[in-house]
Amino acid sequence: MTNEKGRFGRFGGQYVPETLMPELNKMAAAYEEAKQDPAFQKEYADLLANYANRPSILYYAKNMTEDLGGAQVYLKREDLNHTGAHKINNVIGQVLLAKRMGKKRLIAETGAGQHGVATATIAALFGLECEVFMGKEDTDRQQLNVYRMELLGAKVHPVTSGTMTLKDAVNAALQDFAAHPEETFYVMGSATGPHPYPMMVRDFQSIISEESKAQILKETGKLPDTIVACVGGGSNAIGSFAHFIDEENVQLIGVEAAGKGLHSKDTAATLELGEVGVFHGMKSVFLQNKSGQINPVYSISAGLDYPGVGPEHAALNEAKRAEYVGITDDEAVATFEYIAKQEGIVAAMESCHAIAYVQKLAPTMRQDQVIICTVSGRGDKDVAAVAKYQGVEINE
Ligand SMILES: *Cc1c(COP(=O)(O)O)cnc(C)c1O
Repeated sequence: MTNEKGRFGRFGGQYVPETLMPELNKMAAAYEEAKQDPAFQKEYADLLANYANRPSILYYAKNMTEDLGGAQVYLKREDLNHTGAHKINNVIGQVLLAKRMGKKRLIAETGAGQHGVATATIAALFGLECEVFMGKEDTDRQQLNVYRMELLGAKVHPVTSGTMTLKDAVNAALQDFAAHPEETFYVMGSATGPHPYPMMVRDFQSIISEESKAQILKETGKLPDTIVACVGGGSNAIGSFAHFIDEENVQLIGVEAAGKGLHSKDTAATLELGEVGVFHGMKSVFLQNKSGQINPVYSISAGLDYPGVGPEHAALNEAKRAEYVGITDDEAVATFEYIAKQEGIVAAMESCHAIAYVQKLAPTMRQDQVIICTVSGRGDKDVAAVAKYQGVEINE
């Protein structure tokens, strides 16, 4: 649903410094060309299959379905991808585009480190230089991921401006990109930022629903009733929705992090509580105060801890084509334990927000109805934090 200038309804666009415009235009043109080029598509498909481990399984969650006593629950297992999440789908696509544009230097922003690790991984594969911007708060909290990126050959820059978290890392990466546009390609981590990123990231992540649609049709002979995915910036959700957006009878639900609750200040539920604004190069919905300053956000899940959302979600929300709901920390932690015990799957805390909503929704649906829920990543990274949340001391 993008138009020429990268708009989704009244959202999207390119709100960036003058110096960045020519580079973004070049990128958009190169992407349009690549999209039509069978050689590019073939290389992308080949890396997804032989490096990232696609197609990912569509798993029938029998125990969970029986326990909930309503709709049939299927899990789209992005946690089984190389590097443990959906992020690799997007990074492979963007890095192939960077190579095609003759770029030698990749930069990326990262919050907890997941996107930084995925970018450092593909940079290593292609022998490209990689620099990752990460808030100083996050480099202190996520030392293991900082080391992992360095192990993969990347340079990590701690960002000390603002609240020293993800939003400041994005600012720093955009500034670096504007300062060195010729040699640099900024690998954006979600379906956010200025055009062409939201469209491009959606396209690269739409492999999720391309596969799940074919898989569910083969398995059940009909379309699913409901798709559920968690929303940080919105890349795994838009990829999970993409091939179902035109199927009017398929309900689309994005699950945001309500943190300590929708009525508390400690939340990241952007579409439920935010206002329209312009930030990070795009017009979208943001958590902000009355004078338009971006609010500090909070969730137990670092991947959902972003004060905005991709513009296509803002548009789908406004058009009422998709619905957005919030799940609290407490609910997500309970689900982390539930899905481990029910299905033997340790899912990322981000993904547990989506699964927690399925636990509420499935019992309200008929047994002949079907839900597909995206498990965006694996939860190994969250085990220590959940243990601490539950008051268990672990020696590392
Ligand atoms: C980064 C991340 C998210 C959130 O990002 P989106 O762009 O909203 O998909 C969700 N789950 C996992 C496992 C992540 O690593």
